[in-house]
Amino acid sequence: MRQSILISHAKVVDVERNLVSEEQNIEIDGGKIAAVSIERRGWTRVEIDASGCYVCPGLIDSHVHLFLDAGAQPRHTFFESSDEKKLTTAHLNLLVALSAGITTVRDCGGPAELVFRVQRAVERGDLTGPRVLAAGAPITRPKGHCHFFGIEVTTPQEAARAVEQQARKGAAFVKLIASGGGLTPGTRPEEADLPVEIMRAATHAAHASGMHVAAHCHAVESVVRALETGVDTIEHASFTGPAGMPQFDMEIASRIKDKGIVVGPTAISGIRIAHAIRASNSHNETTRHSVARLEARRHHLSRFYEAGVSFIAGTDCGVTNTPFDSLADELDEYVQAGLSPAHVLRTATSASARYLRLPLLGQVKDGFIADLLLLPGNPLEDLRHLRNPLLVMKEGEVLLDRRMASAEV
Ligand SMILES: [Zn+2]
Repeated sequence: MRQSILISHAKVVDVERNLVSEEQNIEIDGGKIAAVSIERRGWTRVEIDASGCYVCPGLIDSHVHLFLDAGAQPRHTFFESSDEKKLTTAHLNLLVALSAGITTVRDCGGPAELVFRVQRAVERGDLTGPRVLAAGAPITRPKGHCHFFGIEVTTPQEAARAVEQQARKGAAFVKLIASGGGLTPGTRPEEADLPVEIMRAATHAAHASGMHVAAHCHAVESVVRALETGVDTIEHASFTGPAGMPQFDMEIASRIKDKGIVVGPTAISGIRIAHAIRASNSHNETTRHSVARLEARRHHLSRFYEAGVSFIAGTDCGVTNTPFDSLADELDEYVQAGLSPAHVLRTATSASARYLRLPLLGQVKDGFIADLLLLPGNPLEDLRHLRNPLLVMKEGEVLLDRRMASAEV
């Protein structure tokens, strides 16, 4: 049952205006923020005394794979697991994300039936975790990247049908696999895969059903196709040239900006996977390209920033060595690339919510959904305060409360 709650003595973080308002009372009713004001009305209700704490919007991770286990061999583990085991993995991942202050995740591809089942279970309140925006099965070419849980298409008509079918099952958006990927043997990140006509048909069908489109793009050519197609977010944007080495192109980056397409950099997973390859015995001439491509995501951040491209914070959690609390590390990468903490915070809150068409998420304001974090310090000054939030609230429900634990220490 959602209770009516008052959070008193809060320092409210305004991520849009980059400021903090002290001594605020946040009234929460029916899962929404009813009022934020210095005044306090005399209703009887549950009170959370936030003295000394900052109240910030819950975080959004725009690129995760709930059904991958974030271990050393996620694809292998996925194949080995029963449906029951896969569901357990997804639930554990949700709990890890929640404990890191993440109240919304966008699942960028998984076994459709199970993903939609988890999405619905969270929605109904049967499963504790961040809300899930699911793509369901990613759309890929025959034997393309992620084909093992994707829908393989060969014509624009098939692509449009796949989109409509997934929309009926509960998809919140569409994921297109525009190039090969490191996780799928037999595909090559430097090669564009889906033809432009298929991407266009899928994007058209998605937009007609009110869904946005995220395109997985490593190859430079796949980024160009994504631009021509009018997708909404470009994932990874690795700019991998035909020879397999990174080849950032400022002119293409400017076109991304001009078209208002948003980039999900997923830098942290690239860095983690590259690290795993470097640390293994298998690091040789063949993996040199993979490492360069993966680490380029970090180097590209400042170039994208320079080009004025908008970021949406996303990690690719679930892939190799990238657990579901990796968002804070992803955000750190953006700070290193030159973005201000406030700008970075918006990529995981208010701006992300706008790009994902969730207008009532991502801000602590009247009328917004009460997804809130209680933090020990001001995240606009130092994003490290986002790590280990003292309290996590989703839709007005306290799902995690560490205040007593921290008081006892
Ligand atoms: Zn991914």
